[in-house]
Amino acid sequence: MSDDNPTIFGKILRGEIPCRKVYEDDEVLAFHDIHPVADVHFLIIPKRLIPSLAEVQPGDAPILGKMLALAPLLAREQGLTDGFRTAINTGRLGRQDVYHLHIHIFGNKPGGDPLKVMHGN
Ligand code: AMP
Repeated sequence: MSDDNPTIFGKILRGEIPCRKVYEDDEVLAFHDIHPVADVHFLIIPKRLIPSLAEVQPGDAPILGKMLALAPLLAREQGLTDGFRTAINTGRLGRQDVYHLHIHIFGNKPGGDPLKVMHGN
């Protein structure tokens, strides 16, 4: 999506739609997913638009590394001290709904149930 036609995450970045912020710096924003699938479920996005993992360029490696390195720090801060899952849905067949690259981080609190095994739904 262009600047004129932002995705829902673009609108969050512009401040047009609220979010429950987990973390922000000049390059990255993390916020809680509006439809959590576990006790804790948040998304890490780059501020610069990369539509999809399928469109990543070699020059995007530093921001991708930063997002991935933030994942365990933020997961711990959010109470996921006994494990969590990460997911990057990519493209139509990967069931990507929002075309602004995002890492899902989700898991249950310690003492809760392990996440269900992923399946093909
Ligand atoms: P994906 O299928 O990987 O593209 O997932 C997009 C995710 O964005 C879904 O888990 C949605 O629940 C989540 N989502 C959509 N709109 C919002 C919003 N306004 N605030 C937070 N999360 C959202």
